[in-house]
Amino acid sequence: MERVAIIMAMEAEAAPLRAALGATAIAGPAWAAALPVRLAHAPAAGTRPEVLLAVNGTDPATGVDCIGSTAAALSTQVALSTGSFDLVVTAGTAGGWQRSNAEIGDVYIAWPHITCHDRRIDLPGFDQFGRADISTADLRLLAADLGCRLGIVTTGDSLDESPTDCERILANGGKVKEMEAAAVAWVAQLHDTPVTAVKAITDLVDSPVATATQFTANLAAAAESLQATMVDLIDRLGDQ
Ligand code: SAH
Repeated sequence: MERVAIIMAMEAEAAPLRAALGATAIAGPAWAAALPVRLAHAPAAGTRPEVLLAVNGTDPATGVDCIGSTAAALSTQVALSTGSFDLVVTAGTAGGWQRSNAEIGDVYIAWPHITCHDRRIDLPGFDQFGRADISTADLRLLAADLGCRLGIVTTGDSLDESPTDCERILANGGKVKEMEAAAVAWVAQLHDTPVTAVKAITDLVDSPVATATQFTANLAAAAESLQATMVDLIDRLGDQ
């Protein structure tokens, strides 16, 4: 691989990776000037492919990071409009489950697909469109080398898990719950570009401790763990 695009939602998730890659801010395309997405670029070095890092940026109305699927889709489109890429990586933090033995700080790579748990459309054809199952790049060997776990990544636009989400996730086999991957994967698929998700666990959805409390307590440590895995992964992608 020669060029990789990484799409991230929160500045706190992205800062350690941007620093580790020595990526520097670059301007986006003129058509995207009104969007909050921030781009950074790191040239190829040794076995490491060239990297474009797109971070969703902050919402001008509320001042917080633009988490969730809408901004993720826009950022992915901005990144992929700048040229062709061998792989799109949706990277960030996520919830896991005690029932699947996840632990805080574990890093998962999506396999065999990314799906949605909160787009319920009970109409022929649209039900499948809503689920949006999108196959991921086969990085199973790499995941084993890097000590990552494999699992279905399931996306919804809420941090909590409603009873309906819970039912849907039990049915879809999701192991990693987050808010962006399916949107990134859909845009990557439109561009015929392979996609993967790399997600570090900040919280255990089936723990009695509130998700938001766990998330806040574990965000910095999970972002470090994510950064270390991402750097190893990117360095190895040059051989893929
Ligand atoms: N208001 C929070 C924002 C975190 S929202 C705060 O700063 O304290 C959660 C972000 O982390 C999203 O980008 C999502 O992709 C990811 N995430 C982590 N754990 C999650 C979970 N259990 N469910 C959904 N998204 C989760």
